[in-house]
Amino acid sequence: MAAGSLRPHIVRVMSERRERPLSTGEIYEAVATMGVAGFDPRAKRDRNLVNRELSDLAGMSPESHSKPAPQVLARVGRGRYIFREPELPMDQALVQEYLEPEEMYEKRTPRGRRSGPVRERAPESVRKSLFAVQRGICPGCGIYLPHYLRFEVDHIVALADDGRTEQRNLQLLCGYCNRVKGTKGKDGYRLRMAELRADNMATGVMADEGMAELTGKRLAQYHRGELSA
Ligand SMILES: [Zn+2]
Repeated sequence: MAAGSLRPHIVRVMSERRERPLSTGEIYEAVATMGVAGFDPRAKRDRNLVNRELSDLAGMSPESHSKPAPQVLARVGRGRYIFREPELPMDQALVQEYLEPEEMYEKRTPRGRRSGPVRERAPESVRKSLFAVQRGICPGCGIYLPHYLRFEVDHIVALADDGRTEQRNLQLLCGYCNRVKGTKGKDGYRLRMAELRADNMATGVMADEGMAELTGKRLAQYHRGELSA
């Protein structure tokens, strides 16, 4: 097996499992479950193929990124990179997603090449306040994300329904919940969230059953001005 043939699998594992940093051990296991022919996650030779691939990917760095400089492994999307913890040796390095700050992305990418419509964005201070109020929890599915940039800003009343970009109409949702809310309508969203919360409880993604509800309540208090970030 050539090391290079593992690369697409490794990048896929890292871009699909972004809830928390992955250890290299987890990457071996995940690559094995993708049915790569002849790959044995316990064999030193095969582990080294993955390690070599990770080191190789780490050489692919964009021209600029913010401090502290992460060791970039791969670009997975608009302004999103996967990097490894530079302090740790490769066999235990934690691998996680790195989001380039918005300003940096805008500076590096000419306007015409940006994907998606340019829309009014909630200021960074607002997003940070919401993150503090929500304590890093998505009020849809109850998942915890460690950084405000990992969330998307949701207009509780959609812009299309004359909702405004103002504090009491904003919340942070994870990318998945935001898409469901945008596409499935109010009832579809509520239904899907109930399923998702049950699933997240069963698999231990959500630590406490009331987490999503509690976050919704804190948000409502914040929107009424009864709670500050
Ligand atoms: Zn969510």
